[in-house]
Amino acid sequence: MMFDYLVVGAGFAGCVLAERLARGSGKKVLICDVRPHVGGNAYDHHDDAGILVHRYGPHIFHTNSKEVFEYLSRFTEWRSYQHRVRAWVDGQLLPVPINLDTINGLYGLHLTSLEVDAFFAARAEPREHLKTSEDVIVSKVGRELYEKFFKNYTRKQWGLDPSELDASVTARVPVRTNRDDRYFTDTYQAMPLHGFTRMFDRMLDHPGIKILLKTDFREIRDQIPHAEVIYTGPVDTYFEHRFGKLPYRSLEFKFETKDQPVHQAAPVINYPNENAYTRITEFKYLTGQLHAKTTIVYEFPGSDGDPYYPVPRPENAALYRRYEELARSTSGVHFVGRLGTYRYYNMDQVVAQALALYAKLAGAPQWKAA
Ligand code: FAD
Ligand code: UDP
Repeated sequence: MMFDYLVVGAGFAGCVLAERLARGSGKKVLICDVRPHVGGNAYDHHDDAGILVHRYGPHIFHTNSKEVFEYLSRFTEWRSYQHRVRAWVDGQLLPVPINLDTINGLYGLHLTSLEVDAFFAARAEPREHLKTSEDVIVSKVGRELYEKFFKNYTRKQWGLDPSELDASVTARVPVRTNRDDRYFTDTYQAMPLHGFTRMFDRMLDHPGIKILLKTDFREIRDQIPHAEVIYTGPVDTYFEHRFGKLPYRSLEFKFETKDQPVHQAAPVINYPNENAYTRITEFKYLTGQLHAKTTIVYEFPGSDGDPYYPVPRPENAALYRRYEELARSTSGVHFVGRLGTYRYYNMDQVVAQALALYAKLAGAPQWKAA
């Protein structure tokens, strides 16, 4: 049996490509993953207590892209969900992103929106260029708030000082002068009603798609005939680290089930302080599941383990560019996804990137002729 495509990795990138190539273009697709399940890092499952949890940390879907939302809606119904986060700072749980209530709560003030704007302006340190993750925050709210909310969290999460990380990292989190305490403001914010894994199962449920789990691509690449490869694993691994290793940040997850229906006061609590973990998530808030017990997960960052985060900083981008060039000149292999293109992408950005690659493949002259 000859496959048109061998898709490496069954995360968002791999599943979208497999689905589109098979259902959209009648291609024969083999999708493999080294893990024993589909879904990549967005995989969810019911734990021993029967609570739906995310095996690789909390995944909250949000996007401004109608196209991405409508595409995924073919495979799942949704539960509307607006995410909220609190940070444990100076003995209080305060809203993150920093907003009016964060400042009033932290300092025992009664400022209005206009006054808090002036409060930030009086403390902000002007920076000519916003190059680093420190610049972004200090130039908006000043050093004290930066130290309370960002410095230690970032040092734990990345093993680097914010001054060593691209501005784009902390720029993911806005600062607000109103009382909006939602973590995201995207047009579409929702969780797949029956979970991510059910959605992936429906994407891959097509006679043109064969799934091979617990299988490293390197074991089968020479055994199973295929015309082209879609590769969503780490790009440096594909090339056997020819130019050196691209740094990735990893996490260890510690799950605990509590014999109570609700454990903490918010879906996610961030710990920008001395604890070894960065945040604790309580899944039932995300999924809306009703259950007498509840499961939480702690995230402990580290440099060893599965690659979860590309590390955005100039020297890594420069190293990636060398791999990118090599990838571009490697015929018959298409690199896509968070690890395949070394980009700190959210799920919706990966879906958009995968749909764009599909459009490119489907528009290629050899396809049109076929
Ligand atoms: P992955 O999901 O990593 O899939 C790649 C797959 O390739 C993996 O399953 C891997 O096992 C497989 N693979 C690698 N090498 C091989 C090989 N040689 N052979 C076979 N298989 C291989 N995004 C959001 O939008 N919202 C969130 O709230 C959010 N929270 C997150 C929280 C955490 C802790 C993490 C780590 C990420 C989060 N993300 C979130 C990002 C999201 O996980 C990614 O954008 C998305 O899952 C990336 O999909 P992908 O297909 O590119 O990669
Ligand atoms: N961050 C922080 N304190 C917080 C929240 C975020 O310092 O309370 C910084 C930290 O560097 C983090 C980055 O902002 O890695 C992006 O946060 P986000 O919540 O988007 O991270 P993710 O969900 O991708 O892990």
